[in-house]
Amino acid sequence: MSEILVLGAGMVGVSTALALQARGHDVTIIDRNAPGRETSYGNAGLIQTEAVEPYAMPLAPGALMQIALGRGYDVKWNIPGLLSQAGAVLAYARNSLPAAHRRASQTWGKLIRQSTERHGPLVEASGADNIIRRDGYIELHRTPAKLDKARSVAERFLAEFGVEATVLDSQQLRRLEPSIKVEVAGGTHWSDSWNCSDPGGLVARYAALFEKRGGRIVNGDAGDLHRKGAAWVADEAQGEHAVVALGPWSPLMLSRFGLKVPMVFKRGYHRHYHMDAPPHHPIADFANSVVLSPMRRGLRIATAAELTRNPRLTPPQLKHGEQAARELFDIGAPVEAEPWTGRRPCMPDMLPVVGRVPDQHNLWAHFGHGHQGFTLGPVTAEILADEMNGAEGWEALQPSRLKR
Ligand SMILES: Cc1cc2nc3c(=O)[nH]c(=O)nc-3n(C[C@H](O)[C@H](O)[C@H](O)COP(=O)(O)OP(=O)(O)OC[C@H]3O[C@@H](n4cnc5c(N)ncnc54)[C@H](O)[C@@H]3O)c2cc1C
Repeated sequence: MSEILVLGAGMVGVSTALALQARGHDVTIIDRNAPGRETSYGNAGLIQTEAVEPYAMPLAPGALMQIALGRGYDVKWNIPGLLSQAGAVLAYARNSLPAAHRRASQTWGKLIRQSTERHGPLVEASGADNIIRRDGYIELHRTPAKLDKARSVAERFLAEFGVEATVLDSQQLRRLEPSIKVEVAGGTHWSDSWNCSDPGGLVARYAALFEKRGGRIVNGDAGDLHRKGAAWVADEAQGEHAVVALGPWSPLMLSRFGLKVPMVFKRGYHRHYHMDAPPHHPIADFANSVVLSPMRRGLRIATAAELTRNPRLTPPQLKHGEQAARELFDIGAPVEAEPWTGRRPCMPDMLPVVGRVPDQHNLWAHFGHGHQGFTLGPVTAEILADEMNGAEGWEALQPSRLKR
């Protein structure tokens, strides 16, 4: 048994702590906030089994031109935002080319396919069943051409990864989601994915389970992590091993320990809206670059990627997403005065960083899950915990790749 310090109480850190605790270790989590209040709070709540390919940057000339000209709503940027991460964005673009993307998908697909299997026991043990729905989500297709393309994607995902989906025509869609007001060509019902009506609440319940099982959570700043004799110390917490699970703040921490982490920080926004008859499933309207998730607080409209250093006061993607959502559904007023914003921690090779930090004794990395960290936290936590217990770890995820 070792004493282990986990830095960060998002989905990734809390899942790490639970996986290590299950292997008999004495684990302390440190976070400056309550568990699940940052990126793991603000997501669309999807626990995805169908997202077998990581998000590639759109590289078709038309799509690139749209992004460059600031049109469209998939990716927005400004000059300071782009310049501050230019190297990482270029590497992300290179890795979006078909051969590299296929390579990343082989590893990514294997991770994603384990997600519900890994969340399942935690949901049950933490008593979180009432905030989990196990009936998938719906991706809308507004035109017949998009619907045709969706059929071939569904067939390919079934053949290559075993993903279950039903492609719906407009009438079948209407039966599943009668509150949609406009005529669209159809949708894909990704039926074996799950979703959560309170993502921050799920992390909080996993954290409560960790405490119930004897774990300790310290409210403090991990920024001064340092060595004291054989121990890693941060604020009032210490351990023989330390795991950096600080989501988008991980590169800042690791730069102090000789590891330069190139990260693409894809900012997203969400806001909740009152709604009398919410959809029965989350609805992904990718034509308008939004996901609409029925949550405890109302309908959560979550946006795609923005490459900016500072949040915008009136985010154009959210404004557009709200218009698209109002076209589809009867939606009331916003619940909060201001939208929420946070940054997806995306690695340029689209794979999370899981394993031993090079040249540092007993320092471990666990971050960089990009668009799917809420889904993948418990999956990669098992991989890391096995590695910390002496197993080999996954070569493609090792932090040492960042040194090459
Ligand atoms: C709009 C949007 C929609 C998304 N939708 C989905 C989705 O539907 N499904 C999905 O799987 N993923 C989704 N994601 C991605 C997902 O939310 C992230 O990948 C995931 O939450 C990352 O978790 P994390 O634990 O690594 O980071 P975080 O949740 O950010 O946790 C990091 C923790 O570190 C703490 N911390 C930082 N610095 C310090 C310090 N100095 N001292 C102490 N503590 C510190 C923070 O307080 C925080 O609690 C979405 C993201 C966004 C932005």
